[in-house]
Amino acid sequence: MQASIKYIRKELAGVYPKEEIEGFVRLLFQHLKNYQLTDLLMKADEQLSPEETEQIKTIVDRLKQHEPVQYILGETEFFDLPFQVNQHVLIPRPETEELVQWILNQYAGTSPTILDVGTGSGCIPISLKHKLPEANIWACDISEKALETAQANARLNDTEVHFFEMDILHPQLPEAFPALNVLVSNPPYVTESEKEQMHPNVLEFEPSGALFVPDHQPLLFYRALADFAKKHLSQTGSLFWEINEAYGEACIALLKEKGFSNVQLKKDINGKDRMIFATCSTI
Ligand code: GLN
Repeated sequence: MQASIKYIRKELAGVYPKEEIEGFVRLLFQHLKNYQLTDLLMKADEQLSPEETEQIKTIVDRLKQHEPVQYILGETEFFDLPFQVNQHVLIPRPETEELVQWILNQYAGTSPTILDVGTGSGCIPISLKHKLPEANIWACDISEKALETAQANARLNDTEVHFFEMDILHPQLPEAFPALNVLVSNPPYVTESEKEQMHPNVLEFEPSGALFVPDHQPLLFYRALADFAKKHLSQTGSLFWEINEAYGEACIALLKEKGFSNVQLKKDINGKDRMIFATCSTI
């Protein structure tokens, strides 16, 4: 049997909602055959070659197992830039694009020194460097495999970011590390008990080390980031973090306790407390 667009729709019906299936069809055919939307309408019955059929069948099987389409294709987009993704890095989320935009709103046209902690695919520093070409951008991760992916993404997007390996819970910086204007981070923030509400495509495929914190330490990484920020942010520096919507008030309290000023929460497009900002001093 040769596969066609119709075959995909039929095989995935009942596994995913209709709109999601159309999203897969669009991505798959754009990736495999460079088809645009009109091609999809015209060619729904087109019989694919035996090789293409094999490829499509493998992809459909993986989708049936709930593997994210971004991992299957090995690529995604963030801030209109292409990124390679694999199971060592989280798939960049639209909420994180909002975090990047928040930084850009304040730093457009300037050349800040920025560090992203827990960079994963490198989507934050690479998109920042793309929009702030004069900025001095650093990014670290605890995972060597994630750093390899981030480095590949910096090459793919022709951007210069200084990557290094670091565990924020035991920070050790490269020599001559500069004072920072911005400390950005999207650390793990989903508590273990929130796992129950998560989809199998996240739970079974995305790296758990990038997602979860113990129930009794929901602010584990934010505490470490705050201490790090105290040491390494310049007098006028600021921090921008993505947060768990349930811990907005707790993050505000933490930052105030640590002596930060101008603490502000920001909601994401879904109306959830998703980002927090603070400065070192009152000026
Ligand atoms: N927003 C992500 C999710 O819900 C979690 C990201 C994170 O833990 N930093 O899957």
